[in-house]
Amino acid sequence: MAPTNRRARFALLTGPSGVGKGTLVARLLERHPQLWLSVSATTRAPREGEQDGVHYFFHSRESFDQLVSEGGLLEWAEFAGNCYGTPKQPVMERLELGTPVLLEIELEGARQVRRSFPEALQIFLAPPSFKELEQRIRGRGTEMEAAIAKRLDRARTELQAQQEFDAVVINDDLETALIDLERLMELAEA
Ligand code: ADP
Ligand code: 5GP
Repeated sequence: MAPTNRRARFALLTGPSGVGKGTLVARLLERHPQLWLSVSATTRAPREGEQDGVHYFFHSRESFDQLVSEGGLLEWAEFAGNCYGTPKQPVMERLELGTPVLLEIELEGARQVRRSFPEALQIFLAPPSFKELEQRIRGRGTEMEAAIAKRLDRARTELQAQQEFDAVVINDDLETALIDLERLMELAEA
């Protein structure tokens, strides 16, 4: 069933690194194959198992700058020393077709989208506590200590901005958070 709410056709998920965005988005895509997730461009190095064009489009700083100067990104921002951005054309094509679109991006990008697409539903994913966030980001084991420190530092700013969003979902119990997201995005049972 197509979402009845226009806003639900374009949703954006933001939240501090390690809160569980990737985990929840993967579950959402499994359960709702009609949902389309934008694949971002980044200058960050691939993590083990990450594939170019699947998890991200991996770019050098030069080719990322080129994308920016060509106007190829819908939004972009620097996060913990790397650049991240949403390729514009694939999103515009999906919106045109009426496909439900999901972006998983950080705070500065969310603010840019709020200006350019005020109709997009903006969801903030919050951890049950800062301590739990720290445990999750360390437990994931994908970053070195310096990168973890940068991400946790940025997390404090991001958490303070949660009231700017249309809705806040707390990712304590994963299944409950998943159901909350499905309700907000008006995703029908698979
Ligand atoms: P993000 O994409 O926001 O950076 P991830 O999805 O990579 O976060 O999750 C970070 C870590 O937290 C992962 O190891 C993941 O398995 C774990 N995690 C995610 N959601 C929960 C949850 N509800 N309870 C406990 N651990 C979780
Ligand atoms: P990670 O390096 O953990 O994959 O992502 C770091 C941060 O960048 C996360 O908060 C993630 O949501 C954000 N991010 C991923 N893609 C984009 C994007 O296209 N634009 C913006 N602004 N942020 C992004």
